[in-house]
Amino acid sequence: MGVSRRNFLKGSAIVAGAAGVAALNGKPAQAEYEAAELRIKGLQHTTTICPYCAVGCGLVVHVKNGKVVNIEGDAEHPINNGSLCAKGAALIQVVNNDLRLTKVQYRAPKSDKWEEKSWDWAIERIARLMKESRDNNFVKQETIKGKTYTVNRNEGMAMIGAAALDNEECYLLGKFARAMGVGYLEHQARI
Ligand code: SF4
Repeated sequence: MGVSRRNFLKGSAIVAGAAGVAALNGKPAQAEYEAAELRIKGLQHTTTICPYCAVGCGLVVHVKNGKVVNIEGDAEHPINNGSLCAKGAALIQVVNNDLRLTKVQYRAPKSDKWEEKSWDWAIERIARLMKESRDNNFVKQETIKGKTYTVNRNEGMAMIGAAALDNEECYLLGKFARAMGVGYLEHQARI
């Protein structure tokens, strides 16, 4: 059905008038509040930390039927008091994104192709290469000015943590790195 310019303007005036009446009733703020509440009403929610940067803003994640449907700043979090930067505000696109990689992609040395691999394959390969690197680069002792010290240092490996890691994960990763003899241990938030 076609809409003439006159009818369109008439319709717009009626809608604007109705909105004005609603505003005059003194309820727009309440309506906005209720609309925001309705959006997440009855949904399961959990709190987490933004994985992007070292600011570590708090988030609330809402889930419906096992699917993440909303992510917003956590108003009770002391770091961000509910606010998020543009990147954090767009976090839902990380979860619900057809382009997100969910399988291991491997490109062999000198190959120009990616191959899909299993997680078991990846973890076994990482563990084997770490063991080889440690065996080949482990320094047990070092002599400085004629005195020999036990150093147990792995010079073939470095480790770096990132803002996605929480305190407990950093603690475990730090312990693991030191057990491997890694001296080059850093965190993205510090560099
Ligand atoms: S919301 Fe922005 S500022 Fe906050 S942790 Fe994420 S990326 Fe950093």
